[in-house]
Amino acid sequence: VERDDDTHYFHSYEENDIHEIMLKDTVRTVSYARFILSNPKIFKDAIVMDVGCGTGILSMFAAKAGAKHVYAIEASGLAVKARENIRKNGFADSITVIQGKVEDIQLPVKEVNVIVSEWMGYMLLYESMLDSVLVARDRFLAPGGLMAPSQTRLVISAITGDRTWKERVAFWPSVYGFDLSTMQAPAFDEGLTEVVDKEEIVTSEAIVRDINSHNATIKSLDFHSSFILKSTSDSDVTVKAFLTHFDTFFNPISGEGSHVQPEEQVEILSFGDNEFENPVQPLQEREEGNQVSFTTGPRGKYTHWKQVVFLLRKHISLEPNQQIQGRFFCKKSPTNSRELDVEIHYRVIDGDEASAEGSYDVQCY
Ligand code: SAH
Repeated sequence: VERDDDTHYFHSYEENDIHEIMLKDTVRTVSYARFILSNPKIFKDAIVMDVGCGTGILSMFAAKAGAKHVYAIEASGLAVKARENIRKNGFADSITVIQGKVEDIQLPVKEVNVIVSEWMGYMLLYESMLDSVLVARDRFLAPGGLMAPSQTRLVISAITGDRTWKERVAFWPSVYGFDLSTMQAPAFDEGLTEVVDKEEIVTSEAIVRDINSHNATIKSLDFHSSFILKSTSDSDVTVKAFLTHFDTFFNPISGEGSHVQPEEQVEILSFGDNEFENPVQPLQEREEGNQVSFTTGPRGKYTHWKQVVFLLRKHISLEPNQQIQGRFFCKKSPTNSRELDVEIHYRVIDGDEASAEGSYDVQCY
């Protein structure tokens, strides 16, 4: 019998709650809205595909932006609701909902100009939905067409981990007066989805995977890469965990040749505060179009993705002149392709031995 990683996965998207949570995540939804509605040059008269349309929200943004036609693809039963939502909002003529996996469906047109999709999972790659989006790209995107988002980055840092440690580890040895410390182990066995205060970050950040939606391959999503995290504290600190978050970029530049962006060309917008304090504030109009980005890191506003904490059984004590050098391994779980196996290998070294800061290399399995 062939293993089925899909039935449960798609079933989970038939629940109302998940869609409510995503729609109420304004950092997420407003970023898509801003990009789609502030780039008429891209969306006006374009043929658009929305991979995994859910309620149909992104398709409706695209139709509102003047798309010639939108193909809204949804594998789960929510496709029925999407069709209803689209009809109620008067878009029945400009949006076609197709229920099925984007890997299997047929389109009445040969190709599309733009693919929009909200495929990001916990720690960016959890759920492996990007695989499906890359298949959609290879099946349907016209040469020079645009992927939205165009780029995503998985970022690692080291944190004190104080709050997570207190809540997930220190809690157990004294629960209503009983020692339940046998319950501690799972906290170390998997990434914990938690909101971390930015004050807990005690090192620089490093990008462990930089994904260009236009040229990434499925194979390259199983990877390992090296990182360097420098202490940013002027006193000794105890590191109890690594932290990952991801950043998402919508770059308006498409077209043959130019759509494959050298990484340096993508401007990292300030994450110091965040850009979404005033979500309706218009973007500054630019010649080539408007770029939008958002972070799911502790320095940005809350998102439903939170961050992912990897607690260390053995704490690292880090002096101000020291850095953590490591390798980050990430691949699909062999038992469920929707899950990830992550390994972080590391050592502490003195600052002077540092090789190029922030340098990393990615190798695919
Ligand atoms: N676009 C919506 C929903 C995003 S959640 C929004 O932004 O609110 C991702 C959706 O993609 C889910 O509804 C899920 O069922 C669907 N999906 C995931 N993989 C898919 C695939 N291979 N083919 C079609 N739909 C898929």
